[in-house]
Amino acid sequence: MTYMMSPTPTRKYDLGFARWVYQHIDGGERLALCMQCGVCSGSCPLGTTMDNGPRKTFMMIRAGMKDDVLRSDTLWNCVSCYNCVVRCPRDVPVAYILHELSTVAVREGYAQAKMSETNKFVKGFTWSFKTLGRTDERLVSLFYYFQDGFVSGLKKLLVFRRIAFGFVKAGRLPIGMPHSIRHKGELRKILTAAATIEAHHAKGEK
Ligand code: SF4
Ligand code: SF4
Repeated sequence: MTYMMSPTPTRKYDLGFARWVYQHIDGGERLALCMQCGVCSGSCPLGTTMDNGPRKTFMMIRAGMKDDVLRSDTLWNCVSCYNCVVRCPRDVPVAYILHELSTVAVREGYAQAKMSETNKFVKGFTWSFKTLGRTDERLVSLFYYFQDGFVSGLKKLLVFRRIAFGFVKAGRLPIGMPHSIRHKGELRKILTAAATIEAHHAKGEK
């Protein structure tokens, strides 16, 4: 299906963008029922690190602030914990809407996904499960920290060292060699099949 670009608001409080979101974003129709209670933002573990958070983002959509919404870091900082989804009194699929908006942001040139922190983390995560067949938090973190160079990685390590030691002390971060799964060949077959299915979807085939 051909992608239909979202409309650019022509005046303040233009509802065109909100209507487009209601119709074209999965779950968007529930967004019209949002009563701005703020339970989503208040329940979000990343709420304080987001520029706007979900509640404000949804208000901005209604206010026709397309540019600000699609440039927002809120779309990228969601970690899919689904606190907001299970707690929303109006059953708004908050996380799904944020994820779809991030796709819109990339498609319409508002965000360079490859530059986002989320994308950097995903690279480390993917590298770990492809290499070991599992995610090793230590290697994923190191991969993520050192993507911008040695000095930058070292600085990040120093910032998070207390948290890391806390995890080790609590037995939540193992020490010792990383373990890999036994049948990595089987995993490779699954990943190859998944890549083939994804390629078919990208071409619009069934
Ligand atoms: S919890 Fe639901 S109703 Fe409340 S502000 Fe968030 S999306 Fe809107
Ligand atoms: S799913 Fe995303 S937006 Fe919702 S509470 Fe979790 S991190 Fe926040």
